[in-house]
Amino acid sequence: MQFEPTDEELTFQEKARQVAADVLLPVARAADAERRFDRDVVEALGRAGLLGGPIDEAYGGEGLGHRAQVLAHEELGAVDTSVRGFVAVQTGLVASCIQDWGTEEQKAEYLPPICRAEIIGCYGLTEPGAGSDVAGMATRAVRDGNDWILDGEKVWITNGNVADLCLVFAKTNPAAGSRGLTCFLVPTTSPGFRAEPMTDPELGHRGADHARLHFEGLRIPDTARLGPEGSGFKVAMTALDHGRLGVAAGAVGLHRGCFEASLDFARRRRQFGRRIGDFQMVQATLADMHAALEASRLLTWQAATLKDEGKPCTLAVSRAKLFATENASKAAHDAVLLHGGRGYNNAYPVERLYRDALGLEIYEGTSNIQRIIIARHLLGRDEGEELTDV
Ligand SMILES: Cc1cc2nc3c(=O)[nH]c(=O)nc-3n(C[C@H](O)[C@H](O)[C@H](O)COP(=O)(O)OP(=O)(O)OC[C@H]3O[C@@H](n4cnc5c(N)ncnc54)[C@H](O)[C@@H]3O)c2cc1C
Repeated sequence: MQFEPTDEELTFQEKARQVAADVLLPVARAADAERRFDRDVVEALGRAGLLGGPIDEAYGGEGLGHRAQVLAHEELGAVDTSVRGFVAVQTGLVASCIQDWGTEEQKAEYLPPICRAEIIGCYGLTEPGAGSDVAGMATRAVRDGNDWILDGEKVWITNGNVADLCLVFAKTNPAAGSRGLTCFLVPTTSPGFRAEPMTDPELGHRGADHARLHFEGLRIPDTARLGPEGSGFKVAMTALDHGRLGVAAGAVGLHRGCFEASLDFARRRRQFGRRIGDFQMVQATLADMHAALEASRLLTWQAATLKDEGKPCTLAVSRAKLFATENASKAAHDAVLLHGGRGYNNAYPVERLYRDALGLEIYEGTSNIQRIIIARHLLGRDEGEELTDV
């Protein structure tokens, strides 16, 4: 595995670092406090080319690999998880999915404006009765000549109230289980599409938009189908392979944000006549935080490298997501405590990072779901073997 990023990857990372410092940092605290999704920020990401990292240049993207993308996600995630989450949905779940599964017409129509932030996308998978159990969804799509009629409901959809385009996953053959799902590209202006904000305030990701979506007799042509009929589960899972890598990299960024803030604080806060960083228990916290950060970054880099090489990467992506998100949460917890009372209000960024961290362990497959994926890969199929040694 090549550990050193290429010059091209470093340039993309530097661009993300600049945008994070110049555009995200000045407004992150206010966006969180006011629960404000900032369209200006999103447009700045589009102008900087940060929404089209892995998208082909022919479709308005940067033509870079996933390694470049994870470097950018780390930079954005170190400053603002809400904005980093926007990019994971826009680029990882929506654009990459259209690139992987779309027809020429669909790619030409949607990818260039998505890369420029002229079209905002959302990814509609989760329902009130179907979160981890994707195949248990109730949203139906029924054929009517050359059209499909959609009825159902989605919840927790990031960007849902501001999106122009929604990837909707629906059951087209209820008897076929996970092989009976199909994905559709649904313009949010379609009659029968309705979005409303989630009713209750969120713990974190407060600068992001989350919606409850309703589809009521929504008619779309068969040309809006993304991928073959019945391939929706596969479409959803390949999208999640992209998205989860972005979440892992975002967790590395959040972890780094906690570590850097803690290191700075430990150098400057004095108690008992010394820097608190001179106390061995504080040093242990910093050392553990640093070691886990490097491990998370390497696992994420490994997963991105496998993905760029076109090798199977589902196991590596799940491993990176599980490890990086759980360790980011631990780092955020430790960072708040290391700041003492100052960590308990939003004067320092660690309070926001702490609230944001938990979401990373939930969306795009909870930690338990990542453990299930990893264990299935490790154990393989039951071949009927049995011990006969006793
Ligand atoms: C901030 C945020 C943004 C989101 N954005 C989107 C989005 O853009 N699009 C979208 O479609 N969804 C989105 N989601 C939804 C998210 O993907 C789901 O919340 C997540 O998949 C879990 O589903 P659930 O909430 O229904 O929990 P459940 O599936 O009900 O899980 C509840 C608990 O049970 C555990 N559990 C469930 N099944 C098993 C099992 N077999 N073995 C062991 N434990 C199990 C889970 O790990 C969890 O701890 C978002 C969620 C959040 C918080």
